Amino acid sequence: MAKRSEIHFQQGVSLLDFQSKYGTEEQCQKHLFQLKWPNGYCCPRCAHKQYYFVRSRSLYQCQNCRSQTSLISGTIFSSTKLPLTVWFLAIYLVSQSKKGISSLKLMRFLGISQNAAMRLKHKLQMVMKQADDEKPLKGFIQVDDVYWGGKHSGGKRGRGAEGKTPFIAALERNEKGNPLFIRFSRIGAFTIDQIQRWGERHLISQSLVVSDGLACFAGFQAINHSHFSINTTSRYRNSDFTFFDWLNTVIGNVKNAMLSTYHGICHRHLPRYLGEFCFRFNRRFKLPILLNSLIYYSVKSNPIPERQLRRAEDWW
Ligand SMILES: [Zn+2]
Repeated sequence: MAKRSEIHFQQGVSLLDFQSKYGTEEQCQKHLFQLKWPNGYCCPRCAHKQYYFVRSRSLYQCQNCRSQTSLISGTIFSSTKLPLTVWFLAIYLVSQSKKGISSLKLMRFLGISQNAAMRLKHKLQMVMKQADDEKPLKGFIQVDDVYWGGKHSGGKRGRGAEGKTPFIAALERNEKGNPLFIRFSRIGAFTIDQIQRWGERHLISQSLVVSDGLACFAGFQAINHSHFSINTTSRYRNSDFTFFDWLNTVIGNVKNAMLSTYHGICHRHLPRYLGEFCFRFNRRFKLPILLNSLIYYSVKSNPIPERQLRRAEDWW
């Protein structure tokens, strides 16, 4: 387990290192090819291994069935007008910025329009959320009910308060109690029904869930988890009880970073912002891995069309 200071001062990927690896279109294409076809070209229609490269249109044509495909088809880069170097640089900036990076800053760094920067940013956020949502938490899980927005977005709990968007914050800890992974998910309300739907999607069965005793969390019992609640308001209040410190600290850090980096987060897109911070936190020990895994998941992600980008996220 690395200490917080080790995480804070770890060597990231320098811009020079990044540029020497992904600074040209050819380098990005080569990397994309390796991720897309790790065992060499394979026709998406007939699985034939031989191809002609149509240089004028950058297309790969199957020597057997003659169907054509591009490197970017079927990936997050599908139908983009931006060069891959711009995408890769965006991935670098997003992955290495601990507190996130606004679309305005991306626009300036990348030399593209703010709309293009916004679309690119949201696509990457969705990739990050989807990547983590595929991996349920397991073992020892601590959960808490949190709200975003309203009058006191970082402050006092406002269960059910108007203008606030509820989300569940979960932290997987190891046997020593140290934090491993987090999952912050928007939910409709803190009801037993919704907590169970969330638990079925995001926790591996027979986990041990610990909460501060909000009634809905008892719902975990019925879906094959053990649940314990710890009362934080009475007898532990004045002791040196620090069980909830880790999760509270992470929640506070994420909220503060979101408030300072982004102005006016649209509530229906809150899940993808939360997903972005969770993705980085979950890979916090190795910044180079963070960069590579965001490239990897971008290539493996299905294309995200405009209508999906505009739509509110599914909560689960
Ligand atoms: Zn073919």
